[in-house]
Amino acid sequence: MKRLLNPLVSVLQGNPHYRQLTVALAALMLASGVTAYSAATLLPDATTLPVRQLIEDVTPLATSTLSDGDPVVPMTFYRSEITRRSDSVNTLLRRMGVYSSAAANFLIRDTASRSLLAGSAGKFVLIETDAQQQLQRLTARWPSDDGVQFSRLVVEPGAKGYTSRLEMEPLERSVRLASATIQSSLNAAAKDAELPKLIATQVANVFSRMTDVRDGLSAGDSFRVVYETLEADGEVLSTGKLLGAEFVQNGRQHQVMWFQEPGQKGSYYTLDGQNLDRNFLSPPLENSKVSSGFGMRVHPVFGESKAHQGTDFASPAGTPIRSAAGGIVTFSGWKRGYGKFVLVKHPNQKATAYAHLSSIQVRKGQRVAQGDLLGTVGKTGTATGPNLHFEYLVKGRPQDPVDITRQPTEQSIPPTVRGDFTRLAETMRQQLGAASLMAQASAE
Ligand SMILES: [Zn+2]
Repeated sequence: MKRLLNPLVSVLQGNPHYRQLTVALAALMLASGVTAYSAATLLPDATTLPVRQLIEDVTPLATSTLSDGDPVVPMTFYRSEITRRSDSVNTLLRRMGVYSSAAANFLIRDTASRSLLAGSAGKFVLIETDAQQQLQRLTARWPSDDGVQFSRLVVEPGAKGYTSRLEMEPLERSVRLASATIQSSLNAAAKDAELPKLIATQVANVFSRMTDVRDGLSAGDSFRVVYETLEADGEVLSTGKLLGAEFVQNGRQHQVMWFQEPGQKGSYYTLDGQNLDRNFLSPPLENSKVSSGFGMRVHPVFGESKAHQGTDFASPAGTPIRSAAGGIVTFSGWKRGYGKFVLVKHPNQKATAYAHLSSIQVRKGQRVAQGDLLGTVGKTGTATGPNLHFEYLVKGRPQDPVDITRQPTEQSIPPTVRGDFTRLAETMRQQLGAASLMAQASAE
């Protein structure tokens, strides 16, 4: 009885890969406006837009077959598994509820079938068996190392025993949408939305780099995501990149997308063209010059031989100093050679420090936004003249605040690709809108 129940249970549980049904609604909205360039790099398959269907509707196959009262109808059981490193043909078949020595012997002998357990583990295998647990079909698909093609192995019974075929086909890139509302945390919501782990990590990472949001997302906030999957015969074999995301925090909407200039490293941008990577820190002083950069082996007072752990900006005394990013003031006061000193903590264990101030305008515990006044340039502590000693810390360790002196105009999209960016941003707005509609539809 238990041997019969196992395949039944697997039918009822369904295969998560098959639960992801396609909804044509969003695809219709998005059929236009994608350039050949963006289609090749980012949205290769926007015309077929699979959407995660949130309503599960699994018909209990076995029950309906039995209720016909017709015992002649052949029953087919489906079961899927992922191959393990330790698998042999026998352990794999046993785990899938197949008790057939003919099938086992064939899989062990057959050259094509041997590729199933050769190479890396983690291959997705689907089998069909009859009520006697004899193998009716085995299908396995796995991506090639090039990430462009996949292998498809099919084993079926023929007139003279089992036969196999092994084929190579191109993987299909597909765009998926998901949406979630925060109950407790971003991670929990990502899990509820059944986001692939890789995408959930990218979502958290992108969120942490946004400068116009405060703290984390809290209950009632929500997010939508547009991401890429690599599919074989409609089956998701692997997850690609997070293409876009929208965070709604306290009713305010923040949208970002992935953009890659030809021949450049890609990055996430707000839809109005601000690069998230370069934008985390803004210059703490206007029109200032770096007099000693990070890592330079110069320090006029300490005469250190070790590398400089910050960036010095030469500026007249009294020049306003502005917070390089939003956060909370965790130190405000005198600190040895740093003189009058302010430390601002930002999300994700990042912090910025400001030293030698002539006056401090914030107190400990105060919340500041990017660009808020912290104090003024001075020469308190060990400094030869008025200057701002600025430090950017990640997990308490000084880092190079790359691009800190860049002005906002240099951080935006170059004019040559501005048109591509704008078209892609419009498509992304529509996709995020479709994800939002989808979430409303499933809630109703
Ligand atoms: Zn310094």
